[in-house]
Amino acid sequence: MKVTILGARGSVPTDGKEMIEYGGATSSVLIETEEEAIFLDAGTGILKSPDIKDRNISILISHPHADHLLGLPFFPYINRNKRINIYSFADGKITTAEQIGRYLSPPLWPCTLDDYPADIHCIDMTLPFTVGNVNVSGIRSNHPGGSTIFRVESCNRSVVYATDYEHSTEADAKLIGLCEHADLLLYDGQYTDDEYELKKGFGHSTSRHGSYIMKESNAAMLRIVHHDPLHDDRMLKAMEDEIRSQSVAFAREGEVICIQ
Ligand SMILES: [Zn+2]
Ligand SMILES: [Zn+2]
Repeated sequence: MKVTILGARGSVPTDGKEMIEYGGATSSVLIETEEEAIFLDAGTGILKSPDIKDRNISILISHPHADHLLGLPFFPYINRNKRINIYSFADGKITTAEQIGRYLSPPLWPCTLDDYPADIHCIDMTLPFTVGNVNVSGIRSNHPGGSTIFRVESCNRSVVYATDYEHSTEADAKLIGLCEHADLLLYDGQYTDDEYELKKGFGHSTSRHGSYIMKESNAAMLRIVHHDPLHDDRMLKAMEDEIRSQSVAFAREGEVICIQ
C-alpha cells in the first residue's frame, strides 16, 4: 500500500510562507494498491492527485463538511472520461448524491456533478464493504453531524483514517478496537491541550490523545492530521516536538508512506 498525504489542513484551506512545511490544502489522502486508487475525502488536497494510471477511482467521504469536499470540482479525474465511485454514509436521511449535490449546485457552484465528463456514481455505503480486493470497515465518529472513521485493508496491511473525531471514553473504546494493530493511524489532532479545553464539543481532538490511541491499539505508525488553520509551521513544529518519535509525526502535505 502506498499512502500519499494530499492535504492535512482542517476546517479551511490556508496559504502563506508561514504555512509551507505542513501545507494548506484541506483533507485528502490517497491510498494506492496495485489496482485501486482510493481517495479519503476530497478537500483541496485532491487537486494535487498524482497520476493514478489505470487504477480504479474511489472517493470515500468521511462526512460532507465543506473542508472535505472543497476540491471535488477541480479533481483532475472529474474532467476525464473515467468512472468515479463516491461513497458516503447516508444515515437513511441525506443520500450521498444529495450531500455532494448541495455543494455542487447553484447558488454555491455554477454546475452539478452531471455536467462533468466523468462517469460519477454516488453510493450510500454500508460498512463494511469492498473496493475491488480492498476491505473497508469503519465506525461512526464523535463529530457534530456525524462522520465516518475508515479502516482500509489490503494484503494484511491497514490504514485507519480517524479525522474529525472528538475523544470520549465511549468513543475511544470503539476507535481503539478499530485501530487494533493498524500499520498507520491518521488522527485528528487539531488542538493543543489548552485549546481543547475551550473547544469541547467542536468535534476535534488533540495530538497527545492521538498518541494515546496509537499506544492503546498497538498501531505501528501515527500521523496527526486536520491541522488548525490558525496554526503556522512554527506552532505545528512545537506541537509535533512534544510527541515526535520514529513512528510518530505530524502529517506534511506531499508525504508518501509506503507500507510493505
Ligand atoms: Zn474537517
Ligand atoms: Zn467536520
